[in-house]
Amino acid sequence: MKKIVVLLGTRPEVIKLAPVIKALKTKKRMFKTYVVATGQHREMANRFLSAFGVYVDENLNIMKENQTLTEITSRILAKFEADICDKFNPDLIIVQGDTTTAYTAALAAFYKKIKVAHVEAGLRTEDKFNPFPEEMNRRMISCISDFNFAPTRIAAQNLADEGHSKKGIFITGNTIVDALKFYSKKVNSEKTQKAGRLIMVTMHRRENFGRPAENVCKALLKIRDACKDVRIRFPVHPNPNIKKVVAKYLTGKSGIILSGPVSYDEMIEMIREAHLILTDSGGIQEEAPTFGKPVLVLRKNTERPEGIAAGVAKLVGTDTAKIFRETKKLLDSKKNYKMMSKAKNPYGDGKASERIVKVLEKHL
Ligand code: UDP
Repeated sequence: MKKIVVLLGTRPEVIKLAPVIKALKTKKRMFKTYVVATGQHREMANRFLSAFGVYVDENLNIMKENQTLTEITSRILAKFEADICDKFNPDLIIVQGDTTTAYTAALAAFYKKIKVAHVEAGLRTEDKFNPFPEEMNRRMISCISDFNFAPTRIAAQNLADEGHSKKGIFITGNTIVDALKFYSKKVNSEKTQKAGRLIMVTMHRRENFGRPAENVCKALLKIRDACKDVRIRFPVHPNPNIKKVVAKYLTGKSGIILSGPVSYDEMIEMIREAHLILTDSGGIQEEAPTFGKPVLVLRKNTERPEGIAAGVAKLVGTDTAKIFRETKKLLDSKKNYKMMSKAKNPYGDGKASERIVKVLEKHL
């Protein structure tokens, strides 16, 4: 019996690891699986995991207001030994994505010679500071990991190009498609159609704090003024750097509906209902193609080139005029819209967790 600790905390970590935990828990004779939360988005973690029938075994409670990356790093390192190693004595720790907590947990595991598996390995922008600190976090996790679970062929190639052993690289698909399939079945799709085409907007990345966020808001106002049949919905991230700017430019503007973050059920419904999506989110870039919704990416670069190559996403950055121009083009031209609204997801087929568990059964 191998003991596995799955570490999670942020919204995307919870969404993308829940199906993996569920799949591991079906192998009760082979694996004893523990879920350890960092405490970042505690309520959401519990709500989401319980939908998958899994619960948190330990909460590290490492979050404090306005703590620096150095503080987060040192708190996880310090807690890892007592709260994870001594308590669970794991053979393997699973981390996902590119948060500082994922990287630090991998580092702490390495110090204790515990094996590490990385879900969603090999995403790269090749720009050390963009996204910051995520690009370096994921690179460092790749160096430590014994199992690099790459979602796509491109991600696997990135790892191979960096010299990581091919024996430790496995192409699995992205587990977000597993989560999406699981949840889509639960979401009621019989909602009545509301008037007007819906543009859904989300934004949360550090690179977009300040001026870029202002530019996006200005573009939304221009779109609203120019396109009368359009409604804009913007679930606003709670980070004050985003929240303040959005409140300043968009509060009380007719045709623009602001809210706080929405539940995953609501998010899936919103993606389904949307005509098109403007976002800097990684997860939403991966989800939208399942429903054939074009995504305009509010970033300079993306570590998810598959959507761009498939023609279902386009990088538009954060220049007001460019966002307006590209959105208008999609709204006005049926041909352009049709080209970007193919319902084929290049990120996965909903079987990634199954593949991950198979690899662990064979190699751990
Ligand atoms: N999401 C959600 N509610 C929201 C905004 C996002 O459920 O109000 C989901 C979204 O569908 C995706 C994940 O959260 O699965 C992405 O999180 P985020 O954009 O914060 O992070 P990223 O994917 O960019 O790392």
